[in-house]
Amino acid sequence: MKKLALHWQIMIGMIAGVIFGILMKSVPNGAAFVKDWIYPFGIIFVKLLKLIAIPLILASLIKGISDLNDISKFSKIGGRTIGIYLMTTVIAVTIGLGIVNIIQPGKGMSQTAIEQLEKDYADDPSVVTKLNTAQAQKEAGPLDFFVKMVPDNFISAGASNGRMLEVIFFAIFFGISMLLVPNEKVIGVKSFFDGLNDIVLKMVDLIMLIAPVAVFALLANVIVKIGTGVIAMLAWYAFSVLLGLLLMVAVYLMAVKLLTGRNPLSFLKGISPAQLVAFSTSSSAATLPVTMECVEEHLGVEKEVASFVCPVGATVNMDGTSLYQAVAAVFIAQALQFDLSIGDMLTIVLTATLASIGSAAVPGAGMVMLVVVLESIGFPAEKLAIGLALIFAVDRPLDMCRTVINVTGDATVAMLVGKSVGKLGDPKVKNWDDHLEQVGG
Ligand code: ASP
Repeated sequence: MKKLALHWQIMIGMIAGVIFGILMKSVPNGAAFVKDWIYPFGIIFVKLLKLIAIPLILASLIKGISDLNDISKFSKIGGRTIGIYLMTTVIAVTIGLGIVNIIQPGKGMSQTAIEQLEKDYADDPSVVTKLNTAQAQKEAGPLDFFVKMVPDNFISAGASNGRMLEVIFFAIFFGISMLLVPNEKVIGVKSFFDGLNDIVLKMVDLIMLIAPVAVFALLANVIVKIGTGVIAMLAWYAFSVLLGLLLMVAVYLMAVKLLTGRNPLSFLKGISPAQLVAFSTSSSAATLPVTMECVEEHLGVEKEVASFVCPVGATVNMDGTSLYQAVAAVFIAQALQFDLSIGDMLTIVLTATLASIGSAAVPGAGMVMLVVVLESIGFPAEKLAIGLALIFAVDRPLDMCRTVINVTGDATVAMLVGKSVGKLGDPKVKNWDDHLEQVGG
């Protein structure tokens, strides 16, 4: 009997997780049961994905660059990737600003709703932590981003998933240097990373076998934790973000169709396992191994491109996050009657683009950098906690959705760059390792 494709299995796991979460919410001690006995399976899955992220970046980038045989090809790929990433982010912010100014979700908020949200969330420890983290980020100098990108110790950089850019830097530096050394001297190193890369990709396949169960656990946990009481008050705000994200998908599909000639639906189908994992984990960093595998095997982007575009994208390209930051900043300003000029809107385009680059690829990071966006338009510091309190209740579900867009954006750019440098081949469907028999084979 033909087995269900992986994305369907994951989808079923997600729906079952939502239903189970709703049921458990109505049962005494149901939430505690989910937290103690169900959620740990989700945590294990996320930890496994994070576990292989650094070895995967290292092995695949070093192999990818050393396969290029020529540094000029790498600078072409690098330049195009960064250029297109910036372009898609600016498009995302602009879409967000357009929508929030047309729908004006903040204008319709009643004073009672604002007061209730303030009372419920302004002192919430998560809101306070986000404000403190943003404060620390703000104190950084203008070139800090580049200073932080260069590690001074590889072992300590590689020991933290939050320092992926440093690992990427090391891998690129190592790969380029390898290109400059005569082939016969590095042949052993090359085949080491080649083998390592295949092993890590096999680990992704094995981890993905538990994805349907893991997403069940992750979603059940999200559902039992979400407070539903205030969601109606934020419906227009949430709708504005979701509409913007949907439009962004349309932009990606159009770009794929027009610039690569590929069928947009097969693009969506190919990237769907990564999208579903992104939705369930709210972390593009944790999803990275799945994104890379989908981009290479399901979409046919060659390793030389995918191994650079995907990890860099996971850390710096967050179209969904930047769009959300634009909508959220204007929504908060509207609700708290803080008038914004055209100049402020332009400042948002700039700061939301930079803020999304600076946001970590982990759950809730977009909200930290939102503080920086708000401050850039002169939003009063004493009202920041109230501002965050307004959007906090729906942040997790919106985070799940914007992470899907972040990952889809990376995959789109991988295809565009791949096409532009002649490295977009046919999907390697034979490696579609969705089932145990194939994983073993
Ligand atoms: N969770 C997002 C990501 O990992 C970042 C954010 O918007 O909070 O891509």
